[in-house]
Amino acid sequence: MSDGNATDPRHAHREEPAPPQQQDQPGKTGRTEPTPDHGEDRYVGHGRLAGRRALITGGDSGIGRAVAIAYAREGADVAIVHLPEEQKDADDTVRLITAEDRRGISIPGDLRDEAFAEDAVRRALDELGGLDILVLNAGYQHDIDEFPQLRTEDMRRVFETNLLGTVIPARTAFPELEPGASIIVTASIQAFQPSPGLIDYAMTKAAQVAFVKALAEEAGPRGIRVNAVAPGPVWTPLIPATGWDAEKLAHFGTDTPIGRPGQPVELAGAYVYLASDEASYVSGAVLPVTGGKPL
Ligand code: NAD
Repeated sequence: MSDGNATDPRHAHREEPAPPQQQDQPGKTGRTEPTPDHGEDRYVGHGRLAGRRALITGGDSGIGRAVAIAYAREGADVAIVHLPEEQKDADDTVRLITAEDRRGISIPGDLRDEAFAEDAVRRALDELGGLDILVLNAGYQHDIDEFPQLRTEDMRRVFETNLLGTVIPARTAFPELEPGASIIVTASIQAFQPSPGLIDYAMTKAAQVAFVKALAEEAGPRGIRVNAVAPGPVWTPLIPATGWDAEKLAHFGTDTPIGRPGQPVELAGAYVYLASDEASYVSGAVLPVTGGKPL
């Protein structure tokens, strides 16, 4: 029975359509209107990750920033990987982490570069003294109107960012992880309900789900859990940088049963749960956070 204080999810966050806007990849928080809600003023920690050490790729903005804030407020030290162009976003996120008296480290570089992807993990291992949580969240997408428009160089960027940028950091960290560690991949509803305009991106998200299931089977006997979160439409800098027109942006997320796009903070709890001891029997799973859209 409700105590009368439950929040109506339809009205829990901004419902007004986003104004027309465009920006280049990678998207920047300061150019995203309205500013996404990463939980700065609303996420309350409960010490569920006290003393743990986390690396979050794409942790400077959007979903990654919301996870970084939540992890710091739950008691974890957090390193973030991001593209060098996003140093301002990264600095802001590190400030939010250190404001919680946790260690915050920014590691700029391009995860498509294998040497950097490996170094980034080694740096996090060295500077944090080990890793308990690896969130593989960096991603890239771009829109096309029809299939023949799919340019090889764009597709290569999607495949390299979303696949190599996931697998190589995981491969580097895997031998170093101790029992109790948790790997979490940001997949997408696109893995299960692919849009033609995001065909190459959807392929990578489906591949990430296969990666999570296969690695979970190998990792379980070592006491390591591997899971995915599958977000639906979430308002982040990636969205105005995808190449959609004003009408598509204005309707973004309105086709969900909840009737609005998600905010990054609404994803944070899923990543906290999967990293925490509460999820000790959860591995090889895909957790949907989609505003009610079925996977
Ligand atoms: P975002 O733009 O805030 O975050 C993406 C981050 O990826 C960037 O900040 C950037 O730091 C990082 N990145 C991209 N290319 C990189 C590279 N080559 N090297 C290093 N870092 C790189 O957007 P977001 O929406 O928070 O995206 C986070 C994840 O969520 C992505 O994997 C995305 O596919 C996934 N996702 C987003 C949505 C959504 O609606 N926003 C829905 C489903 C899944």
